[in-house]
Amino acid sequence: MLKFTPLLLAIIYGIVMYRFSAWRLGKTLDQQSTELADPQLKQFTDKLAAALDLPRIKVHIYEVDPVNGLAAPDGRIFITRGFFNKYRQGEVTAEELTSVIAHELGHVALGHSRRRMIDFSGQNALRTALILIIGRILPGIGVLIANALTSMLAARLSRSDEYEADAYAAALLSKAGIGIGPQISLFGKLEELTKSRKGVVPAWLMSHPATEDRIAALRKLEAKWTNA
Ligand SMILES: [Zn+2]
Repeated sequence: MLKFTPLLLAIIYGIVMYRFSAWRLGKTLDQQSTELADPQLKQFTDKLAAALDLPRIKVHIYEVDPVNGLAAPDGRIFITRGFFNKYRQGEVTAEELTSVIAHELGHVALGHSRRRMIDFSGQNALRTALILIIGRILPGIGVLIANALTSMLAARLSRSDEYEADAYAAALLSKAGIGIGPQISLFGKLEELTKSRKGVVPAWLMSHPATEDRIAALRKLEAKWTNA
């Protein structure tokens, strides 16, 4: 029994962290968000809604500066104030912003946002367990190995999520009659848009695959669909 205590503690820690993170994120979002109301943008989100057979797509503005989109674990979609301002200033088109909303809808539909919160706290639990286990065999260096293994696993998981959300968005945008053009043009702009804030790398970009790889994946889908 004593042998398993560290592992059990790590699991309990993981569950508590998950609950706490989800609660804290929900609270922050409640306090710092408003519903997005923009007639021009609504024309496009209504097309997404029609393609999904939904009455409408509800989007919120998250009052922070970094350019980012977010899918909360409870299924709400957020665009940051910084991103919305870029749209208002004409740097990002309504179609491009709609492509971000479609991407975030993909994370919700595919269950990523909820899983990601589990990933995050699950990661801590896994890290703790690995440190305990590897640390016994290889004192000192065990921590480094445990950290490296956990980070590698997390990066792999989130990268595949991004490709999946991109593919979902591409399918939805195509069905809605908007097409994947805005997705591709936005990827080209994204690096420029986020460059101005050095040091504050948005979560949306942090774990993202290289822009060219994302564009290539979309082109591949487009080719497949147009040949069918
Ligand atoms: Zn994403």
